[in-house]
Amino acid sequence: MPLAFRPLYRRPRRRVSPRRPERGGVLALVTGAAGFIGSHLTDRLLDDGWSVVGVDNLATGDERNLHLASRSAAFTFVRADVTEPWDAVAAPRGERPNVVFHLASPASPAQYERLALETLAVNAAGTMHAVALAHASNATLLYASTSEAYGDPLEHPQRETYWGNVNPVGVRACYDESKRFGEAYVTTAVRKLGIDARVARIFNTYGPRMQLEDGRVVPAFCAAALRGEPLPIFGDGSQTRSFCYVDDMVDGLVRLATRPGLRGRVVNLGNPAEHTIRELAALVARITGGELRTTTSELPSDDPARRRPDITTARTLLDWEPVVPLETGLRRTLDAFRAA
Ligand code: NAD
Repeated sequence: MPLAFRPLYRRPRRRVSPRRPERGGVLALVTGAAGFIGSHLTDRLLDDGWSVVGVDNLATGDERNLHLASRSAAFTFVRADVTEPWDAVAAPRGERPNVVFHLASPASPAQYERLALETLAVNAAGTMHAVALAHASNATLLYASTSEAYGDPLEHPQRETYWGNVNPVGVRACYDESKRFGEAYVTTAVRKLGIDARVARIFNTYGPRMQLEDGRVVPAFCAAALRGEPLPIFGDGSQTRSFCYVDDMVDGLVRLATRPGLRGRVVNLGNPAEHTIRELAALVARITGGELRTTTSELPSDDPARRRPDITTARTLLDWEPVVPLETGLRRTLDAFRAA
């Protein structure tokens, strides 16, 4: 994988005033736009009247996720790998973005273990390029980090002040540690370069456009239930997760990227309602009208036992909290999977 990196750390001689996009007052560059969250974010920004350049190499994404966006004249798709220099990526129409959303990265354990080196690269070189572009454009940068930055947490629920409990050499390290590097790079760039960047620590998010086979628990349960198969549980199912519906997550990301005065802030975004995996299985079975049947297999290594965000910071700074109940979100997700 090419790692050529040309830093753009010289301040532009004069302030770059972004050329106004033809439609929409604000231009966003979204990396990972063809992915699950990135495509919903793109749709939301276009609905809000922004122009969007979506960049993706389709490593884990799917251009079909952009079927709504691609109908809009305010949307441009660039197929590119963000670990490579961004000159062509950044300004396909000679415009400078006002906001860079850096979401590109495999996100499911199955995919980041398959694409381990690529995952390290996109959160390292890709993030360095995102910082360079934001710096050169005087744009705000939002970096999509993860609750995995807390590893297998020893504090519960997790607050932003917790430093985490991460195995730096385990199979998940390609994701956990590269996201931690990304956070370090972005927050150091805030201090050293003066850029306006914000970090979102995203907790489990689910909804339409997840890939049925990507190994994450919601699509795995939905796929099994729709096929009339037993739901696959790792361990005894007593481990907990908190599930945030994608529309809520996108709303949190937009607020975090656009509220003034949040330079350098790191904010948990997720749903604080905690459920055991067994409870989730029972709910999916009830919604799909089937009897709860499960299979069990060994817990993957470094699988966290408990995960729940403390979202006090998001409530305070963003006036944000999730509003979509788990049952409603699961029904919408199942409907989308049935229709696909
Ligand atoms: P996803 O895999 O659906 O989307 C990621 C997108 O990034 C894909 O379209 C992929 O093709 C693209 N991509 C990967 N490497 C790239 C590269 N080198 N160049 C260009 N594009 C590249 O994942 P998602 O669930 O939408 O996650 C989006 C972001 O949110 C990721 O950064 C992820 O770490 C973070 N996140 C997601 C969750 C979640 O529950 N979904 C939780 C925590 C953090």
